[in-house]
Amino acid sequence: MTAFSSPDMSRFTSWLHLRGRLTFTTSFRIGAGRSIAVDEPDLPVLRTVDGLPYIPGSSLKGALRSHVEALLRTIQTLPDVEDRNLACTAVGKPGRRPSDDPFPHLCLFQNEVSRLKEVHPEEWHQRLEPPLRDRLPDPDRLRQDLARKGRQGVVDEMLRALSCWTCRVFGAPWLASKVLIKDLFLDEGTFYTTEIRDGVAIDRDTGRVAGGRKYQFEAVPAGAAFHLEILVENASEAELGLLWLGIRALERGEVLLGGARSRGLGWCRLQVDQEGSRYVARENLLDALFGSPRSLPIDPDRWMRAFAEAVGVRLEAQGGTDAQETAE
Ligand SMILES: [Zn+2]
Repeated sequence: MTAFSSPDMSRFTSWLHLRGRLTFTTSFRIGAGRSIAVDEPDLPVLRTVDGLPYIPGSSLKGALRSHVEALLRTIQTLPDVEDRNLACTAVGKPGRRPSDDPFPHLCLFQNEVSRLKEVHPEEWHQRLEPPLRDRLPDPDRLRQDLARKGRQGVVDEMLRALSCWTCRVFGAPWLASKVLIKDLFLDEGTFYTTEIRDGVAIDRDTGRVAGGRKYQFEAVPAGAAFHLEILVENASEAELGLLWLGIRALERGEVLLGGARSRGLGWCRLQVDQEGSRYVARENLLDALFGSPRSLPIDPDRWMRAFAEAVGVRLEAQGGTDAQETAE
């Protein structure tokens, strides 16, 4: 994976440090792979070196991204939305874009990323093939950008501009993620011991027990709570709004984590710690560094409106956001 900094990551624009508490309302299990010890269940849960269960930040990020992606894949097909590049329909698969069929699609295919890097931007319009060529800005605009930002700057910006909203926020093999989630460690006193459950291997095709194979798995009981910290670097307000499609779902308990979800495991709820969170942008940067550590308001409603506006969501049917505001 060759994630690299794109130009808007080389200069500070904003920084959100979000804190919260994730509490499980059912048991859950995030597996550590199959155990080989005789006195352990077949499928132990993941633990820290101290032997306590934890949740890798990447697991939560994956669940958050899948949720947002699933929503945006539907939203981008609705007639009341302008932007059609909200989410890939598949991520990370190399290969070539089917020439006649835009779906299923990736925002950028590996060969397109390579071509943008290999060919000098001055020659993009001559040497790149459609449909990539059709998505480029006109040659005059490219020449102006080259004079201002240099080759690397233009390539970086183009990779970002052609990527879908989801890849821009959560990252892609050619783009650094703006969302970093720390591993989640236990809130002391919310966990005592794990539980062992019996499972029976089911043949997914027939729905019958597969050869009567039984196994045991370990799970963390309901009530366990974890400290959550998310860092969001240089996201625009609209990009924060996209992230909040996922955060809101976590708050409502609509994002499930870990395995055995079909058996009722993995339900949790997020409580955002407004007081403990901090949002710094250009407006309060100097103050935040040299003066008071005050945060700008953490205002998800405003960010979600910014996202809706940026992607051209039309809400006439529901009265419209503007209409609601002026009516107040
Ligand atoms: Zn994408």
